[in-house]
Amino acid sequence: MGTGSRSPKDGHEVLLGKYELGRVLGRGTFAKVYHARALSDGTNVAIKVLDKPEAVCSGMAPRILREVSAMSRLSHPNIVRLHEVMATKSKIYLVMEHARGGELFARISRRGRLPEPMARRYFQQLVSALRFCHARGVSHRDVKPQNLLLDRDGNLKISDFGLSALPEHVKDGLLHTACGTPAYTAPEVIRRKGYDGAKADAWSCGVILFVLLAGFLPFDDANLPLMYRKIQKRDYEFPPWFPPSAKRVVFRLLDPNPETRLTIEGVMELPWFKRSLSVDSQLSLMENEEDTTTKKMMIRTISMNAFDIISLSKGLDLSGMFEGGRVREQRFTTKETVEKVSERIREVGMKLGYEFENRKGGIVGVGKDGSVLKVEVSEVAPPLLLVELKEEGSTVHVSDHGDVDNGNGERVKWDKMRRELADIVFAWHNLDDDDDT
Ligand code: ADP
Ligand code: MG
Repeated sequence: MGTGSRSPKDGHEVLLGKYELGRVLGRGTFAKVYHARALSDGTNVAIKVLDKPEAVCSGMAPRILREVSAMSRLSHPNIVRLHEVMATKSKIYLVMEHARGGELFARISRRGRLPEPMARRYFQQLVSALRFCHARGVSHRDVKPQNLLLDRDGNLKISDFGLSALPEHVKDGLLHTACGTPAYTAPEVIRRKGYDGAKADAWSCGVILFVLLAGFLPFDDANLPLMYRKIQKRDYEFPPWFPPSAKRVVFRLLDPNPETRLTIEGVMELPWFKRSLSVDSQLSLMENEEDTTTKKMMIRTISMNAFDIISLSKGLDLSGMFEGGRVREQRFTTKETVEKVSERIREVGMKLGYEFENRKGGIVGVGKDGSVLKVEVSEVAPPLLLVELKEEGSTVHVSDHGDVDNGNGERVKWDKMRRELADIVFAWHNLDDDDDT
């Protein structure tokens, strides 16, 4: 690694005084990804640049903060690391680990299908990373070779985490545009029913395993209705060179019924999967085991300053957080400690009728009406913490006077919560309530 600050070469743009932008590494649906070097120490990084106005229009903006905080917590050898998030008025920059080996997809198109041991190794890494994410409540929903990258040692790295989990109307748009080959998408996702992200990811793993070993897609047809029909009917053919022992794995993953489909955990139990699992992978699987059972809250720090957070949340359309006029989610930043925050939320929550329990990853309040208030704290910009309050479950609300109301009581409750928490709040990151008030 170089030392000190190198002056940027001619013609290279310097981003926010920190990174020297290089060539374009790839393009996605909403983003361009550049190679860049940190001026401070010469580290190679990849910077994903998102247009803020575009993000706002497409309705994905509220997800950015949430997904960024999810991604920053996912620290796994087979997941691209997020180093830093920066924002200006018009753009959002995600500074990530650079995956030097490029897309797995490019490798398959160059060399064709892979030998079984190599395919199995990528598959093991993919499955182990997805299991790790699912255990943390994050599903990818866009697992395809373009989002599977390789590092310099040929290890698989999942990228594009969560940012691909777009609202349905955008997904709908994607399905009919050039970028959207739905060839990797589970049938229940295509049907746009409510779906389980982990099961949808398992489907995509089946497609990936097929591609790795066959060298082509199981379902591939310019005629989309025809392709969907084939997906529904498990209508695909293994080429003669497909290893017989892997056929069964693919078959069970490409089950159009998510209920009977082999799960990620199920895959990991199969002898085919376990064969020649490297010591490294075994270790990383064991680590997963451990930190799902320990109560330790894993917080990884990403550097995002208060300015970034505020500029990221100002002017964003947060309508997705209001369901039928009811506030379901609130977030704020604070300079207090995790302990202090938990203590204050407990106090205020109890006044509002919640009873609190300690659960894995934080405290959870259970309301009189059965609603559940989840509290998530992440360290996005030390000393600032991001606190997310999410309410789930209840649909009928009983106001202080005992009448059933349609959401007004909830608004009153949140207002009260906001007032009471004022002493620890640095800034709220919600749309500042409705214009009608
Ligand atoms: P989108 O969300 O718009 O699909 P991606 O995050 O998938 O964007 O990035 C688009 C492309 O940029 C990827 O398919 C890949 O080729 C390249 N790319 C993305 N992240 C990295 C990275 N960390 N290292 C190297 N190349 C990357
Ligand atoms: Mg992508």
